[in-house]
Amino acid sequence: MTETHSSLNFDTGWQYAPAPESTEHIQIDKQYKLFINGEFSAPQQGKYFTTSNPATEEKLSRIAQAGKSDVNRAVRAARNAYEQTWSKMPSKERAKYIFRIARAIQERAREFSVIETLDGGKPIRESRDIDIPLAAAHFFYYAGWADKLKYAFPGAQVKPLGVAGQIIPWNFPLLMAAWKIAPALACGNTVVIKPAETTSLSALKLAELFQDIDLPPGVVNIVTGDSSTGAALVEHPDVDKIAFTGSTSVGKQIMHSIAGSHKKYSLELGGKAANIVFADAPIDQAVEGIVNAIFFNQGHVCCAGSRLLVQESVAEELCFKLRERMQTLILGDPLDKNTDIGAINSKVQLDKIQSYINIGIDEGGQIYQSSAKLPNKGYWCPPTIFTGMAQSNRLVQEEIFGPVLAIQSFRTASEAIDKANNTAYGLSGGVWTDKGSKIFKVTSALRAGVIWANTFNKFDPASPFGGYKESGMGREGGIQGLSTYLSMELSNDA
Ligand code: NAP
Ligand code: MG
Repeated sequence: MTETHSSLNFDTGWQYAPAPESTEHIQIDKQYKLFINGEFSAPQQGKYFTTSNPATEEKLSRIAQAGKSDVNRAVRAARNAYEQTWSKMPSKERAKYIFRIARAIQERAREFSVIETLDGGKPIRESRDIDIPLAAAHFFYYAGWADKLKYAFPGAQVKPLGVAGQIIPWNFPLLMAAWKIAPALACGNTVVIKPAETTSLSALKLAELFQDIDLPPGVVNIVTGDSSTGAALVEHPDVDKIAFTGSTSVGKQIMHSIAGSHKKYSLELGGKAANIVFADAPIDQAVEGIVNAIFFNQGHVCCAGSRLLVQESVAEELCFKLRERMQTLILGDPLDKNTDIGAINSKVQLDKIQSYINIGIDEGGQIYQSSAKLPNKGYWCPPTIFTGMAQSNRLVQEEIFGPVLAIQSFRTASEAIDKANNTAYGLSGGVWTDKGSKIFKVTSALRAGVIWANTFNKFDPASPFGGYKESGMGREGGIQGLSTYLSMELSNDA
């Protein structure tokens, strides 16, 4: 049975007045073409699909569906730009373009934030304070490396790879584009990038920005479309590197498809991170960290703390405080600056989350959901937790990509480590304790690429990000993020 707000009798007391961000300064065209060779160009088969606002189900625009011949045109443009312009340009000149991109994103930050929120459903506070500033920060960071690559890899002869094909998901559209484009350009590669179907608008706005800053034609090409567009890019023989962020199942298909080819690849895939809370942790801060780890951005985060492992002696107290905090989370209009929980990105994703909630109930978990009123239109899921979960439950093992937290308890540190490591994934994790020695012990035993201690979901362009096991291979961010866009030979005198 669902335990509800009223049965726990939490009183939210009062409400904030609406504070919606204005959309008056936003220009969204009725239709967007592909961005190839520095110009907007119609798809050869003349097909378009609709992108809508998941919070209202209103149509926002029509987006071009790139076919194989369009992908061919984009790769050809990228190859020409690589051979004739970008790889020949002195690296300090390349850096100036990348710095210009960073500055232009900052100048248009408000526009990008609103578009990201309209198209994807995430709260404006997140797009404004996290996605867009971090996207600019990635361009700034990698602009700085463009003319210093020999210092990044002392003793090695480094060369760009050529044309990079990049495919990104819908959860951090502009930020994922920045993660991919910035290091590729800094290393001297040119790019063909495919955004996710439901969230192409910020990438197309980025294309307008590339025109504004006079980025040479063909250096970045944007091919919008569905999975067939992504597959055409992966299979194209003149692409030298595939960078993919998305689900583990598509990542596996991509590995099959490029096996035996010359293509380099980096894959950022799914996750099922455990947040481990020890009895000596500051419980109130841990509750805040858990909320940040799984409920903000509707759980649409690959490194989300979607499992909670809590030491038995504080489990009851922590779960009570967590339920209390869940009740105060404001769900609703993503454009409102007070909103904590926005819309689920699409109907398909909402259906997937709901099917997992049903699985959790069938598996015998005790469900608690916040009693936030869901808007009549759009796709919504209230913050949800399950207690009483066993390690073998699907809710503990499988990625949901929604605001659903599976809670288990543990007695000893080694039991927590065993449980945390016991999934097919290994992207991230969190440890909450007052003791530094425990942090070192646990973090060094966890098989995960990123582990936060007494915090969660903090990012920096200088810090590498990526996974173990089925969470992917290769790292993005930092110097490691450069290395996946370069071929390297150690010189004899090294
Ligand atoms: P997805 O279905 O794998 O899609 C990711 C991207 O790949 C989209 O642009 C998608 O196009 C495209 N695509 C789909 N099938 C393809 C194929 N056969 N060949 C080439 N491209 C293809 O994943 P999603 O559902 O959009 O995103 C959620 C997943 O991404 C989650 O599993 C999450 O963990 C993962 N993710 C990982 C990270 C990380 O850094 N590790 C970051 C963010 C998200 P369409 O949009 O048209 O389907
Ligand atoms: Mg959309």
